[in-house]
Amino acid sequence: GYRSRAAYKLKQLNETAGLVGPGDTVVDLGAAPGGWLQVAAELAGDGTVVGVDLQRIRPLDGVETVRGDMTDEEARERIREALDGREADVVLSDMAPNVSGEYSLDHARSVHLARMAFETARELLAPGGDFVAKVFDGPDVRDLRRDVEREFDYVREVRPEASRKESSELYLVAKRRLTAPVRAGD
Ligand code: SAM
Repeated sequence: GYRSRAAYKLKQLNETAGLVGPGDTVVDLGAAPGGWLQVAAELAGDGTVVGVDLQRIRPLDGVETVRGDMTDEEARERIREALDGREADVVLSDMAPNVSGEYSLDHARSVHLARMAFETARELLAPGGDFVAKVFDGPDVRDLRRDVEREFDYVREVRPEASRKESSELYLVAKRRLTAPVRAGD
């Protein structure tokens, strides 16, 4: 079985948008407890899957894990080491803040995490690669989406059926990166 119900959201996103295929190199941000990692490893076959989280991720066959904070540059460096010179074909983020209950704050924090994921994608993703980031819907999504749109063929907002109905989360799904990876500061 899967470690989280979230696994079914990635399955649905993958069916909708065709994200992970055999042999792909996949980076999954906010990966604990590991449901998305299990699905990504199934889809990538003998590809490479790297999972990152603040929390420890219990070991999984065929998956490399990094414990780190994606708001910290060091975590990106550790991912780069795990990739060992490979560019990523897919960067996924299911990162979410601890919810405070104050919606505007939770929204702002979630957009910040999605931006961190976008910066990571800009550094690691191969041309033609895909990027997915969860975000709590709200006013700041527009600007984020516009910034992501500049670097990809197109961006869609997807609300997987498996997300609970009352949930305000959506996924920005960006297909086919247009440019080559850039280093931080570029
Ligand atoms: N996709 C996962 C799965 O299928 O098991 C579930 C992810 S859960 C919804 C969100 C995760 O984001 C949490 O495990 C949390 O620790 C992680 N997270 C939140 N902020 C983070 C950060 N700054 N750096 C890394 N991970 C973070």
